[in-house]
Amino acid sequence: MKKLENVKPRVYKFGAKTADGNSKMKNLLGGKGANLAEMSALGIPVPPGFTITTEVCTEYNALGEKAVIELIKQEVEQSVLNLESLLGSGFGDKDNPLLVSVRSGARVSMPGMMDTVLNLGINDEVVQGLAKKTNNEQFAWDSYRRFIQMYGGVVLGMKPETKEDIDPFEEIMDTLKAERGITLDTDFTVQDLKDLVQDFKVAVKTQTGHDFPTNPWDQLWGAIIAVFNSWNTDRAVYYRNMNGFPAEWGTAVNVQAMVYGNMGNNSGTGVCFTRDSGTGENVFNGEYLINAQGEDVVAGTRTPQQITKLGSVRWAELAKVDEEERAKNYPSLEELMPSVFKELNTYQEILEKHYRDMQDLEFTIQDGKLWILQTRSGKRTGAAMVKIAIDLVKEGIITEKEALLSVEPNKLQELLHPIFDPKAIRNAKVIAHGLPASPGAASGQIVFFADEASKYNNSILVRIETSPEDLEGMNLAKGILTARGGMTSHAAVVARGMGKCCVSGAGALRIDYKKRKLIVDNKEYHEGDWISLNGSTGDIYEGEVATMEAKLSGEFAELMTLVDKYAVMKVRANADNPADAKTARDFGAQGIGLTRTEHMFFEADRIKAMREMILSDTEEGRKKALEKLLPMQRTDFEEVLEVMEGLSVTIRLLDPPFHEFVPHQLVTQKALAKQMGISLDDVKNKVADLEEFNPMLGHRGCRLGNTYPEITEMQTRAIIEAALNLKAKGVICKPEIMIPLIGTVKEFDMQNDIIRTTANKIFEERKDSIAYSVGTMIEIPRATLVADLIAEKADFFSFGTNDLTQMTFGYSRDDAGKFLPIYIEKGILEHDPFEILDQEGVGQLVKIGTERGRSVKPNLEVGICGEHGGEPSSVEFCYKTGMNYVSCSPYRVPIARLVSAQASIKDTL
Ligand code: PEP
Ligand code: MG
Repeated sequence: MKKLENVKPRVYKFGAKTADGNSKMKNLLGGKGANLAEMSALGIPVPPGFTITTEVCTEYNALGEKAVIELIKQEVEQSVLNLESLLGSGFGDKDNPLLVSVRSGARVSMPGMMDTVLNLGINDEVVQGLAKKTNNEQFAWDSYRRFIQMYGGVVLGMKPETKEDIDPFEEIMDTLKAERGITLDTDFTVQDLKDLVQDFKVAVKTQTGHDFPTNPWDQLWGAIIAVFNSWNTDRAVYYRNMNGFPAEWGTAVNVQAMVYGNMGNNSGTGVCFTRDSGTGENVFNGEYLINAQGEDVVAGTRTPQQITKLGSVRWAELAKVDEEERAKNYPSLEELMPSVFKELNTYQEILEKHYRDMQDLEFTIQDGKLWILQTRSGKRTGAAMVKIAIDLVKEGIITEKEALLSVEPNKLQELLHPIFDPKAIRNAKVIAHGLPASPGAASGQIVFFADEASKYNNSILVRIETSPEDLEGMNLAKGILTARGGMTSHAAVVARGMGKCCVSGAGALRIDYKKRKLIVDNKEYHEGDWISLNGSTGDIYEGEVATMEAKLSGEFAELMTLVDKYAVMKVRANADNPADAKTARDFGAQGIGLTRTEHMFFEADRIKAMREMILSDTEEGRKKALEKLLPMQRTDFEEVLEVMEGLSVTIRLLDPPFHEFVPHQLVTQKALAKQMGISLDDVKNKVADLEEFNPMLGHRGCRLGNTYPEITEMQTRAIIEAALNLKAKGVICKPEIMIPLIGTVKEFDMQNDIIRTTANKIFEERKDSIAYSVGTMIEIPRATLVADLIAEKADFFSFGTNDLTQMTFGYSRDDAGKFLPIYIEKGILEHDPFEILDQEGVGQLVKIGTERGRSVKPNLEVGICGEHGGEPSSVEFCYKTGMNYVSCSPYRVPIARLVSAQASIKDTL
């Protein structure tokens, strides 16, 4: 044997309370492998095994199968020898066989993405030995048939590819069940299982052209390579792309001695959480099944039972099962196996304390002995995330800074999820109950197939159970409903991760995929029919039920108090009306960074006056129309400024091109002609005149104010008079007048002059004055380059990164949708730059603009009001650039506040 000294290991062993690796080695050993090593070293009973590193996956992708097996052969063989000596059994030994599981494990958890093979190492001879060793022929043959089925699907590619395809193994089993008049897998006799193994092998030969591999070593290499391949399956790639995980990370392979939960009624398997993953409540909970193996709990084919008595009673209440039946047919593990439960409870406490976070554990009980198969940070809802973070601080387990960093900004959105309108729900008809798998309320039209989720704007994906192939559709649907599966089923786990409303395990549903219908209590619901789900209670309603916004929890408020303690960069909101301003203030906005005044012009009376102004050929005509608009604008501003009392409010002057305001339909054109007393042709000609080839680069922004100064005059008057009126009422407000689309200093000067002259005139008229400032949007590349010149005159800068992105890339904001998805798919762009700020390019201009502006005015106030102001990575960038604030839509204010705090904390680490 060649010496291995001085060569970086590619295989790491664990088990028997020792390990080569530890939990810090996630990048190399994957999350699962690193945690198995850590747990083993902690003295937790982990079945022994070894991990082939993620780097080997990358080597496999580069070198191919043969070369990579050559690289790791010696280490893998030595590790198997080690397992054999630890367990006193032999891999392929027909008297005392060692069977192993082979699982994937990337550095981050990718639920259901990667494949697993259990019971590997079994063949016609080994199965006899296994039967003798366990004194359980049923178990041995059941393990064998499961192995061929899994190996056939995962390694030999016999999984059905489309929903129309039939799973050959399921078909064989269904045929036998029908012949034998049985319904459950557990009803098979030993002879049935032997027949199934035979038939499965024939199916393998027919479909693949090869015999099923009987040599355990061939089986093992096949499975290892299959795990590597599963890193590059379509669904894994989709999940990776969705989460921004690079291809180079690769997956590790974990080979571990098998322990059996299906050895009879003294065995079982389960999944548990150290706290409630839905609410964050500090209660140990989970599900298990007696006489079952690994995937059975999450597959949703049998209804799992609860681990704790408390959970069991709660479950029975929701499932409408009475106490007598619950205790008899669905006892908790706590009641059924008290000593195993006690041991499990001890380990969950140790593991949560050790990892200082809520854990998600998998365990197996083999003939009364407990084995922990896995621990990882548990996936949780947004509400649970916040509650757990706050509780862990209170319990002294983590620091405030750690708590803030543990909160995923975008997940806060889940706390802001809609609930049903209480009035609408009163009359809604409940048609069935399921498990409250992922909170929120959703209403939509039924679709039965994931790839049809985009058929309706609001769709509810209804499935017997979901699988990883359904991921994309689940993401597109408003809600997910499954007939089978518990709280740890694929649908539940994935939906919770996505923050999507989900009801699972609604056993009363009969789903007919072929006829595309759902039958509940003899009533049929077809594709396209509306249903509604409450993911927090598990209730399913007939028809469309109106939803409304959520109320925030006490822990959310506590989190936001912590945020304020650490955040330096401020967060303002983009709000155009008093209602939005109120929402923003309730969410903790520290001012308004952008009021788009044009949004106020679309309401009935205003649009008439606006059109009259646009269609006027003379200054006099325009002024007449503007006079009608003045009082309306003044009231609008007064209301917004009042809501934001004491805080800065940035009001932007008119920005969009005129053609956006004029009517394009004949009826409205006729009505306008009548209203203005001009001919229809005049209206038509004017509308045609306003058409531009590139309206986004056309007559808009300050170009309007500089060509029609009377518009700037009217808007300034409305703002200043509103502020004066409020001052008279004792309301202090701080208006900031913002000029859009500045490219040259002269453009700014002209507008600034009009604003200041108008304001002074009003102060004279009213014999009173207020403080106000005049600044500019920085949204044209040229403006960033001459920012020093502009800053000499401007009181503040606000980066309009929507336009800045448009003009830096040369992508039309209105038309980029035609090619951007393809660009992202092909990897030409990593993200949509209108969603996530392009730090490499546009970001440079933002930096240049800020630096040049502050080079002449060191205390220049700088902010951002483009859509990026609420996107976490962009907000962090703004902090690093030294901005005073970001401004975003009201609902993203809490997210931006959190990111602001996180950025400050990261700065101190
Ligand atoms: C911007 O361009 O980033 C901006 C905030 O202005 P608007 O989206 O109104 O053009
Ligand atoms: Mg703009």
